[in-house]
Amino acid sequence: MLFRKLVEVFESLESTTKRLEMTDSLVMLFKETPSSDIDKVVFLTLGEIYPPFIGLELGLAEKLAVKALSLATGVKEEIIIEDLKKTGDLGQTGENIFSNRKSRTLLFKEPLTVDKVYSTLEKICKATGKGAQELKIKYLAGLLTNAEPKEVKYILRIAQGRLRLGIADMTILDALAIAFCGSKEYREVIERAYNLSSDIGLVAKTLTEGGIDAIKNFKVTIGKPIKPQLAERLSTIEEILEKIGGECYAEYKYDGLRIQAHVSPDEIILFSRRQENLTEQFPDVVEALRGTVKVREAILDGECVPVDPNTGELLPFQVVAHRRGRKYDVEKMVEEVPVIYFAFDLLYIDGEDLTVKPYFERRERLKTVVEETSKVKLAEYIVSKDTSEIEKFFHKAVQEGSEGLLCKSPNSLYEAGKRGWAWIKWKRSYRSEMTDTVDLTVIGAFAGKGKRAGTYGALLMAAYNPEEDVFETVCKLGSGFTDEDLAKLPEIFKPYLRGEPHPRVKTVMKADYWFTPVVVLEVIGDEITLSPMHTCGMGAVRPGSGLAVRFPRLVRFRDDKSPEDSTTVSEIIDMYKRQLKKIEQAQIPPEEKEWVESP
Ligand code: ATP
Repeated sequence: MLFRKLVEVFESLESTTKRLEMTDSLVMLFKETPSSDIDKVVFLTLGEIYPPFIGLELGLAEKLAVKALSLATGVKEEIIIEDLKKTGDLGQTGENIFSNRKSRTLLFKEPLTVDKVYSTLEKICKATGKGAQELKIKYLAGLLTNAEPKEVKYILRIAQGRLRLGIADMTILDALAIAFCGSKEYREVIERAYNLSSDIGLVAKTLTEGGIDAIKNFKVTIGKPIKPQLAERLSTIEEILEKIGGECYAEYKYDGLRIQAHVSPDEIILFSRRQENLTEQFPDVVEALRGTVKVREAILDGECVPVDPNTGELLPFQVVAHRRGRKYDVEKMVEEVPVIYFAFDLLYIDGEDLTVKPYFERRERLKTVVEETSKVKLAEYIVSKDTSEIEKFFHKAVQEGSEGLLCKSPNSLYEAGKRGWAWIKWKRSYRSEMTDTVDLTVIGAFAGKGKRAGTYGALLMAAYNPEEDVFETVCKLGSGFTDEDLAKLPEIFKPYLRGEPHPRVKTVMKADYWFTPVVVLEVIGDEITLSPMHTCGMGAVRPGSGLAVRFPRLVRFRDDKSPEDSTTVSEIIDMYKRQLKKIEQAQIPPEEKEWVESP
C-alpha cells in the first residue's frame, strides 16, 4: 500500500474534530488496506510502531530530526530552525521546505510504501549504542529524500512521536468492527481480544486474516499483557453483598502497585496496570517468583507492596512509586525498601486461558500453583455472606496496613480491561461525604497571577466518558501543590500544549492553555456538586447542569494511570447519587440537598 494513501486519510482526519467523520475515514482506509499492511497502518495512525508494552517508542529528538531534514534537502539547519520558530511544528516546516524546492525534486523517485516507512521508523526506533544518532539521522534523511511534501510532514511528526491525530484505540476498534464485520456491534468482541493482548496491531491482523471467528476464539498468550480487571466502589458491606448476590470472596485490598507476572522457563516479565514493562525495576520480584510457580508457564495477577525491613509491616504505595520509571539506583531501592508480591489471580497456565473460568476456580488453582515464600504470598481472603464476619475481616485488613477489602463475585469471569460490579472495593476512608479520591485528567490550565505569575494558577480537570470516548470537565484544581510542584508545571505540560481544546475534550470553560489529555492526577474534594460550568454528566442529573468536584485538592500524580483509566463520568454521577441518598437517610431538609458550585 502506498504511504500517500495513508497521508490523504491523515489530512482528512486532521480537518475534523467530529468522531463519526473520523471513524468513517478510518473505515474506508481499513477496507482498502491489504491484510499484510493492516497492523502497520493501525500503528502508524496511532503515531506508534509497537504496542506500548514492547517499551520501544518513537520520540526522535528535534535536533536530530532537523539534521535529517537538512541532510535530505541541503537546506541549512539555521534556515530550518528559523521556519520552525514560526510554525512550532517540524512536520509543517518540513512540508514548507519540501514544497519550496519542488523544482529540484528527483523526477523518478520511487513512491513510498507503508511498509517502507514503517520498517525505516522501526530501524530508527531500534538503533541504540555508539553511532546510533548518526544512524537515526541517516535512516530518516533517506526516507525524506523519497517523500512528497505532505508525506514529509507526517513522517517527521511520527518520527518525533508527535502525530496526535486525536484518534484513540477505541475509535480504531469501532472502525475495525464496521470495516470488517459491517457493524459497530462487533466492537465488544473485538475489544475483548484487544484487552486480552494489549496489541491492537495483532487484533487487526487476526480480524483481517481469520475473520470474526478468529477474534471470538482469541486466546491469552504469554508475553502479551492482559488489561487488568478493575473494581467498582461501594461504601457499605450490605450494599456490596446485595450487588454481588450473597456470598463473596472478601480479600485484603493491598495498597501497592498492580503487577501482572508472566512466568515461563526462559524469562519472567512484569507488567504494570498500564502494560508497561517493569521487569528491570523489580529484579527482586523476578527473583522471588523464580521457583515459586509450580507449572511451566503462568500469568499471575497481583499487587506488589513495600514492607518495612525492620518490622515486616506493610508500607503505603508511595514508597515503591519511585521505582517506576527509574532505571538507576534500583539496587539501592531493592535493599532499602523490600517488597512482597501478593498474588490474587491466575489468568493462564500451560496453554490454558483461565480468564474464561469463574473466580472461585482460578483462586483454587492459584493455591496449587504458587508455593508461598516470605516474598511471594497469596492475598488474604475469606469466603463469606455474613456481614459481621466480613466487617471483622475488614478491620483486621486495615489494621494490618491494607486499604480495606476487595469483594469479588465467586462466579465471575475475568473481565479484562473492564471496571464492573464483579469486583467491588470497600475502602476505610468511605463516609457519606466525598472522602474517596478521584483520578482526573488534566486537559487545560489557567495562567497564574501574583505569587503564581509565570506558572499555572489552576489546572482544568476532566473525568472520562468511555461511551463517547471524551473527557468532560469536572473542576479547576489549584490547591494541594507544593511551590516546587507549581514551578515545574509548565515544563511538565510543555509537550502536550496545543492551540485549542483537544478533539476528545468537552468543555464550556475557556482555559488559557489547552493540553492533549495525558497526565492523570489523584484529587480529593469535599463533595460532588451540581454545576452549570462543567460538562461532566451534563444533563444526567438535571437539565443544563453538569457535576463538579467542590474544593478539589491534589493528592498525587498518577503516572501509573492512562487518561482512559481516569474516574469515569458515570462513577461521578453514582458518587453524587449516593451522596444524595445519604443525605435523605440523614433527613436533612430538602433545600440543603442541592449544591451549586461556588463561583
Ligand atoms: P485505587 O485508586 O482505589 O487503588 P484504582 O483505580 O487504582 O483504585 P481499582 O480497580 O479501583 O484501581 O481498585 C483495584 C486496585 O486495587 C487494583 O488495580 C489493584 O492494584 C489493587 N488491589 C489490591 N489488592 C487487591 C486484590 N486483592 N484484588 C484485586 N486488586 C487489588
